[in-house]
Amino acid sequence: MNEHCTEVRAFYHDHPDTFTVETHVIDARPGRVLLATSPFFPGGGGQLPDRGALAWTRGETAVLGFESIDGRIWHLLGADVELSGSVEARVEPRFRQLMRELHTDTHILNAFVFLAFDGALVTGAQMNADGTARMDFDLPRADNDQLRALESPINDAVRQDLRVRDDYVSFDRAKAQPGLIRNRSVAPPPTPDGRVRIVDIVDLDRQACGGTHLASTGASRLVRITKVDNKGQHNRRVYISVTG
Ligand SMILES: [Zn+2]
Repeated sequence: MNEHCTEVRAFYHDHPDTFTVETHVIDARPGRVLLATSPFFPGGGGQLPDRGALAWTRGETAVLGFESIDGRIWHLLGADVELSGSVEARVEPRFRQLMRELHTDTHILNAFVFLAFDGALVTGAQMNADGTARMDFDLPRADNDQLRALESPINDAVRQDLRVRDDYVSFDRAKAQPGLIRNRSVAPPPTPDGRVRIVDIVDLDRQACGGTHLASTGASRLVRITKVDNKGQHNRRVYISVTG
């Protein structure tokens, strides 16, 4: 990664395993706060926002959500306090890990659908706190049994423990390369210098994404395709689970 993009990279992209950060308040209102450095993923692209807490010298409160205003992420607090000075931001590690796992697994599923169904695009995705996720694909003529059969290659990819890394390309280049922007209607927001983050599962898949992922596929549990539904004439909804 070249130095030019360090200032536009999110902390949770560069440090997905750092869950506690000492930082300070740069603006505050009762029950909400802006932090100099935030380890929290605020949600997006079907990935749920991080959970966690803020602690200061005399107390602690839950972080219940996030609101983006003018490109800055306000942390919504569980107490009506107006904070200042130093705070410790704590991401809940188990929930983050589950989201990284499900997010990586949806990329693997997406990779095999893209390969097996002639570049079929994603129309929606949602990861859930119970260890399940669903993805919608634009697949008007798909055989649902063929979709269910992808469970086997997905788990082969998990067992192969493929490395997952990221890089950045210009938004124009990303748009020009078929398959790099995988969602039919939504692309991740470009960085201030006009680039888009690419998540690369080595030897399997490259696609634009702003979420958090595992460092390698082998850190996921095995994946089960639990259901395939028809959603309207065009869409197939594929449900996965990592909880057996
Ligand atoms: Zn992703």
